[in-house]
Amino acid sequence: MDYDIKAGLSRIEERLAAACLRSGRKREEIRLMAVSKFHPLPAVEEAFKQGIRLFGENRVQEGTEKFAAFRETRRSGGDGRDGVEVHLVGSLQRNKAKKAAAFFDCIQSVDRDSLIDELGALTAGREKPLMILLELHTGEESKAGFPDTDSLYRGGEKAVSYPGLKPLGLMTMAPFSKDEKTIRSSFRRLREARDGLEKRFPLSGGWPCLSMGMSGDFELAVEEGSTLVRIGTAIFGERG
Ligand SMILES: *Cc1c(COP(=O)(O)O)cnc(C)c1O
Repeated sequence: MDYDIKAGLSRIEERLAAACLRSGRKREEIRLMAVSKFHPLPAVEEAFKQGIRLFGENRVQEGTEKFAAFRETRRSGGDGRDGVEVHLVGSLQRNKAKKAAAFFDCIQSVDRDSLIDELGALTAGREKPLMILLELHTGEESKAGFPDTDSLYRGGEKAVSYPGLKPLGLMTMAPFSKDEKTIRSSFRRLREARDGLEKRFPLSGGWPCLSMGMSGDFELAVEEGSTLVRIGTAIFGERG
């Protein structure tokens, strides 16, 4: 591990602080997730040491293996988790849904009705509901996500009907673009979709989470209302 995670994190904190200042927001309104995909356990340990408690992985197999090992190393502290949360942020295939529902604290990449049904059935009778975010497709390059707000709202209605699921908000990936306007409009669409969901399903306790912003665009995301930024490269360096 030759990359300086501590320095990476302090640069991000500076940039977050500046974005908050520009947009009149408070730093506490925004959670910082370290996306550790393709980075080994020692990198996770180092980020934890620097205060990170929220991690993201994009593959079920890699995430469960790495974080099962991570939790194992932390058994001494209380429930063995030390307040660590691990979210799945990559697309979830049906045949991995059971494993994912059992392991992850939140699945951010819920992108179709059939997956909501699957997760709803898997979590029936659970004491602690599974947190989920619905993913909206707002960019051109990635194919993931509900394709439009109508299908998203139908997904929202379905999601709130399962007692084992706790929908908390929305997630998106902006297009990989240099054009600030294009990126902003993607984030804005997510925020407007969230507002639409809150109007339609006001009894569900709100949809507070807007998971948007990555290494290349998180400042714009914060300015557009993000409550959770998912940062990989800017914390851990390039993926090998
Ligand atoms: C990889 C990934 C990230 C982090 O991307 P960086 O550009 O490395 O910060 C965020 N969100 C999702 C869904 C990802 O797959």
